Amino acid sequence: MFRLAGNGILLTRVDPHFIRPSTMFKKLRGLFSNDLSIDLGTANTLIYVRGQGIVLNEPSVVAIRTGRSSHHSHTVAAVGADAKQMLGRTPGNLTVVRPMKDGVIADFTYTEEMLKHFIRKVHNTSRFLRPSPRVLICVPCGSTQVERRAIKESALEAGARDVFIIEEPMAAAIGAGIQVAEARGSMVIDIGGGTTEIAVISLNGIVYSQSVKIGGDRFDEAIISHVRRTRGTLIGDATAEKIKLEIGCAFPQQDVKEIRISGRNLAEGVPREIVLNSNDVLEALREPLSGIVSSIKLALEQTPPELCSDMTERGIVLTGGGALLTDLDKLISDKTGLHVHVADDPLTCVARGGGKALDLIDMQGGGEFSSRE
Ligand code: ADP
Ligand code: MG
Repeated sequence: MFRLAGNGILLTRVDPHFIRPSTMFKKLRGLFSNDLSIDLGTANTLIYVRGQGIVLNEPSVVAIRTGRSSHHSHTVAAVGADAKQMLGRTPGNLTVVRPMKDGVIADFTYTEEMLKHFIRKVHNTSRFLRPSPRVLICVPCGSTQVERRAIKESALEAGARDVFIIEEPMAAAIGAGIQVAEARGSMVIDIGGGTTEIAVISLNGIVYSQSVKIGGDRFDEAIISHVRRTRGTLIGDATAEKIKLEIGCAFPQQDVKEIRISGRNLAEGVPREIVLNSNDVLEALREPLSGIVSSIKLALEQTPPELCSDMTERGIVLTGGGALLTDLDKLISDKTGLHVHVADDPLTCVARGGGKALDLIDMQGGGEFSSRE
C-alpha cells in the first residue's frame, strides 16, 4: 500500500498476478493504453480516460435473466442505462439489481460483471491491439480491505495492467479543485445515492471521515412514504426521483414549483393524478436532511481546532449528485454558519479527481509514495 507524504492514506497499489507480456508487446500496449479512473458509485458508474475526459457515465444497474436451464441459469441481460429503464417494469424472468448498496458492494458477482462490461465498452478496440490500461478506482472510506481487494481483482480480471485504489473524498476534493497538499484543512461532503461521505482533508491525507447511510436513495424513499401518507397514493422509485430532481429543495422556496404525477390511489386501487409542490417535498425530506446536518455538525465538533478554524476561512465544498438538490448549500450554511459552495459539475468530481490523481502518480513517481505494506 502506498500513500502520499502526510497522515492519510491516498493510494494503494497492487501488482497483477498474471504473466507479463513480452517487452515488445508491452511497448505497443504502452502506446495504445490510456489510463482510466473509475468512480464506482452506488447510483452511477463513471469512467474518465486520461486525455479524453469522461467517456462513460451510466447507472450502476444490472438486469439479470433467470433461465430455466440449470447451466446458465443467470445471464446478464442489460447493464447501465438500458437496465435502469427496466427497473420496476420487469417480467418474471428478469430481475434488475443495483449491485452497489450503501456505498459498498452488495453483490460481488454482478458488480464484477458490470465493471467488465463498462471497461469493455470503453476499450472497444480490436483484439490484437487491445490496450491494457492502468486503472484507478475510487472507493468509499468505509469499504473494508476485503472489499478493496475484491474490487482490485475484479479490475485485473477485466484486463487492467495495474490497479490503484483511492478513497472517494480524496478524489472528490481533487476533482473539486481543492489544493489537497496544503497544510490547510478543507471539508468535502460527497452526497451520493447510498451515502453521504464527510471528510476533512489536509496535507494529502484524510484527517477525519465519516460515512452516513443517507443519500439520494433515502430522499426518494422519504418522498414515496410522504406521498403515501399524505395523499394515499403509491408511487414508484423512478417517479420519486423525478419529483426530487424537478421540484426538490432543502430550504423554503420563494417560487413554489409544482409537478403533476400519477400513482396508484390506495383506496380505489386505480391510477390517479396528483399535484405536488416544492414545500411538500421539503416536508418529506426534512428527516433525511436533518440526519445529514447533524453528521456535519458532529464532524466539525470532532475536527482538531486548527483545522476547524481553516474551515471558517475556506468553507465547505459539496460534491456528488445530492449536491444538486436546490438550496442544500443554503441549508448547510444556515445550520453551520460556514460558507458552503457546490463544486462545478458535482456528479463527475470523483471521476475527474481520480484522473488528476493518476497525473500526480506520474509526476511524482513512486518516490513520493511511502510504502505501508
Ligand atoms: P453515487 O456516487 O452514489 O453513484 P452520484 O454522485 O452519482 O451517486 O449521485 C446520484 C444521486 O444524486 C441520485 O440519488 C440522484 O437522484 C441524485 N441527483 C442527481 N441529480 C440531482 C438533482 N438535480 N437534485 C437532487 N438530486 C440529484
Ligand atoms: Mg459517488
